[in-house]
Amino acid sequence: MTAGSARQTIKTDARGLDALRDAEPTPFWLDSSEAPAARPALTGADECDLAIVGAGFTGLWAAVQAKGRDPGSDVVVLDAGRIGGQASGRNGGICEASLTHGVARGAELFPSEAAQLIALGLENLDAIEKSISDGGIDCGWERTGVLDIAGAAWQVEGLREARDHYDRVGIAQEWLDREALRAEIRSTTHEAGLWHHDAAILDPARLAWGLARICAEKGVRFYERTPVTELRRTAAGVGLRTPWGALRARRVVLATNAFRPLLRRLRLHVVPVYDYVLMTEPLTPRQLDAIGWSRRQALADAGYLVHYYRLTQDQRILWGGWDAIYHYGNRIAAELELRPTVHAKLAEHFFATFPQLEGLRFTHRWAGVIDTCSRFCVFWGTALGGRVSYSLGYTGLGVAASRFGAQVALDLVGGTPTELTQLQMVRSQPLPFPPEPLRFALIEVTRRSTEHAELRGGRRNAWLRTLDRCGVGFDS
Ligand SMILES: Cc1cc2nc3c(=O)[nH]c(=O)nc-3n(C[C@H](O)[C@H](O)[C@H](O)COP(=O)(O)OP(=O)(O)OC[C@H]3O[C@@H](n4cnc5c(N)ncnc54)[C@H](O)[C@@H]3O)c2cc1C
Repeated sequence: MTAGSARQTIKTDARGLDALRDAEPTPFWLDSSEAPAARPALTGADECDLAIVGAGFTGLWAAVQAKGRDPGSDVVVLDAGRIGGQASGRNGGICEASLTHGVARGAELFPSEAAQLIALGLENLDAIEKSISDGGIDCGWERTGVLDIAGAAWQVEGLREARDHYDRVGIAQEWLDREALRAEIRSTTHEAGLWHHDAAILDPARLAWGLARICAEKGVRFYERTPVTELRRTAAGVGLRTPWGALRARRVVLATNAFRPLLRRLRLHVVPVYDYVLMTEPLTPRQLDAIGWSRRQALADAGYLVHYYRLTQDQRILWGGWDAIYHYGNRIAAELELRPTVHAKLAEHFFATFPQLEGLRFTHRWAGVIDTCSRFCVFWGTALGGRVSYSLGYTGLGVAASRFGAQVALDLVGGTPTELTQLQMVRSQPLPFPPEPLRFALIEVTRRSTEHAELRGGRRNAWLRTLDRCGVGFDS
């Protein structure tokens, strides 16, 4: 039975619902005694050299790198909520080298610089590892690689193409047929696997908090619970308005991910898409024995709708993905994070993949917003006469790419062209999404068509084929 068909046959699975009964509706990573105390909000007037809006990975890496370039500069980071409180503290913690939402996508979008982007991505991954090690950040970094899993014959074909692609570009990988795959991980839904070694797993909240500690040690100042509501050009730089104060900065980096962009021109370029996640209780040695997985690779389905899953340091399984939900009008709200039907479906799929874990319970369920753009990978730009830059649009693969995004955003706001600012990837922008109500309708059609293709042997309908031809789409 293939993964797709196993998932289809389960209609109302009592195992999944039962296992979810006591799950806390909160992100596992953030539910930790290691969470630092909140920094104060900005009240009154302040000024700095560089203001960074957003304290997720992009904002934090921008602050770390800005201090590395100019230790004497006065850097302030502001966040509407808490440091690492959004996508950066809620994700799967799968840190892949690719800067382009996968190497195949990079080759499609930027054929003339695909090799350079791969090299830059690997360099970026090494730089993350070095910063974690030099900074003594205890975030459970393990360079396990990612094992892409085909659960159906049409996905095996796709994986073979991916393997050839990895070979051509020189990324180390191993092909696992059904037998070899079952020796790694025991699931009846797995048909073949491609294990590529350009990735690590980590605890994302502990990485965010660790980066914030390093920033603070270098003199970066933080304001939490401080939404920036307006940017204004001033004679000496930029004025940032907040509900209880104001900040004057010479330069600004915007790292606001899926949230309403402060620059009006970007409002059609990113849409917030909810991605859902479950965490199990720690597995007993017997349960672990039943599934194998001793080399702890991150796993990801090879189809169009993807589950990603991985082990934690204390032997839980994080299980996320599949549905990606967009709400009319780019709506973001806390109540949208708890969608019982989506969490129940995820739980059903979990037990279809690992039936031998029946009886295992989920301790946490949550969601986070992804900044989807129509090209599926980060883009940049400047505003207010070059005083402001932004890095947005990671579309669900930003744990590693956010460090590169921040590096480019700093180059752009520095005002002097660099090797990176010359890249076509940096100079080009994704096509905007249409305004509502068309946006919602087109995203829904695309989402349903994709689900249909996933469950019907990978056959893409005329609508998806048209989007493919135009090189645009909707993904997570
Ligand atoms: C559920 C989930 C699973 C994921 N899994 C993976 C994965 O396994 N691997 C991977 O590579 N990627 C994954 N991602 C994507 C990855 O987490 C993101 O691409 C990355 O964290 C983006 O970092 P960021 O700093 O740009 O955004 P965020 O972490 O979202 O930070 C943006 C910050 O900006 C703040 N902000 C927004 N507007 C304002 C304003 N006006 N004023 C002040 N502050 C503001 C927000 O409060 C927020 O803290 C996942 C994402 C989600 C949601």
